[in-house]
Amino acid sequence: MSLPPLFRPGRFLGAGETGRICLLGAPLDVTASYRPGSRFAPGAIREASNSLEEYSLALDRELGELAYGDLGDLELAPGEVGRSLAAIEAAVGTLTEEGRLPFLLGGEHLVTLPAVRAVHRHHADLVVLHLDAHADLREEYGGETLSHATVLRRVAELLGTGRVHHFGIRSATRSEAAFAREHTHPFRPVAELGAVARDLAGQPCYLTVDIDVLDPAYAPGTGTPEPGGISSAALLEAFAGLAGINLAGLDLVEVLPASDPSGRTAVLAAKILREAILLFG
Ligand code: MN
Ligand code: MN
Repeated sequence: MSLPPLFRPGRFLGAGETGRICLLGAPLDVTASYRPGSRFAPGAIREASNSLEEYSLALDRELGELAYGDLGDLELAPGEVGRSLAAIEAAVGTLTEEGRLPFLLGGEHLVTLPAVRAVHRHHADLVVLHLDAHADLREEYGGETLSHATVLRRVAELLGTGRVHHFGIRSATRSEAAFAREHTHPFRPVAELGAVARDLAGQPCYLTVDIDVLDPAYAPGTGTPEPGGISSAALLEAFAGLAGINLAGLDLVEVLPASDPSGRTAVLAAKILREAILLFG
């Protein structure tokens, strides 16, 4: 059968069924403290991606030059945190075992914990690069130890001291800042991402990007907007500094399409993903 080129809005720009990089939606949306809605992010980001070019002028690469897949979304039972986290961990574990590079589309930031657990089983010396407005290092939040506000604390406990690097943090409690000084690393500006990545010299890295690392002017569609962030241009420039790192997995979380009628947050999320696919594909 020979058909003219087809437009597939249900799949990320230029994606096939599979490839080394595999996009996977993880629409977990259960612990939001301010406003929910991140479960609708994967669909909105895919739809927005089709407004972009497949060619990156900054990287001089094109999506058509590499094979990568969009697997669709995990079916996560609403309200079932434990089962949802287990499903994410199983899926990321399978992809990692197959030598694929999982790119998760959240969902809320808690998706990072099962993803890191799965990747860490295959890479004992895993390092996490964390871009966020918030430290997410609380011991518990509203009585819950598993939350978008505690996720990096659980990740740091899992990986051990000095394994998490934070960028763009501009909101934390005093005890989160103390925990970072003792167990992770000082909060750095996003502009230092490339320099830190180069110092890792081939160590496996997991990159987690909370969209609220950007200023709400650039990414208003998020659950806990925090003023004082960087521009989209600054983020994309810092991202390009990651070229050559040994990436073991990535996620992009906390996009809330309903909080941004302009749709610019989803387009920005799609562009960040496109650049990541072209950088690491
Ligand atoms: Mn955040
Ligand atoms: Mn976060």
